Amino acid sequence: MAVSAYDPQNIFAKILRGEIPCNKVFEDDHVLAFHDIAPQAPTHILVIPKGAYTSYDDFAANASDAEIIAYTRAIGKIAAAAGVVEDGYRLIANTRDHGRQDVPHLHVHIIGGKKLGLMLP
Ligand code: 5GP
Repeated sequence: MAVSAYDPQNIFAKILRGEIPCNKVFEDDHVLAFHDIAPQAPTHILVIPKGAYTSYDDFAANASDAEIIAYTRAIGKIAAAAGVVEDGYRLIANTRDHGRQDVPHLHVHIIGGKKLGLMLP
């Protein structure tokens, strides 16, 4: 399936450009992480790559190895810094229409801080 064009007006692109504020928890050359505006649990952090990738499949196919390594490691570091590793947490990357992805810039949710419900389709 062809990858949809990246929409530079999506809300996370605006956050990356500093046009909309966010409650930042981490930033480096490749990654930005911030608290979700509507948290579903005591810890709910969104981790995004700085590159213009619509979704996980786009990122996996088109990002450089350096971007992929930086993103993967950042997610682990951010979860550790948030204090959720010992008790556990959930990573979610809602992807495209059937995956109920609302914002078309790749983001991984780090959700934890309480015992989560079962995730059903
Ligand atoms: P999705 O359904 O695309 O996986 O999740 C999008 C997430 O982005 C939702 O959890 C939503 O609460 C969050 N979100 C949407 N707009 C904003 C915003 O302007 N700022 C922040 N921090 N989070 C947002």
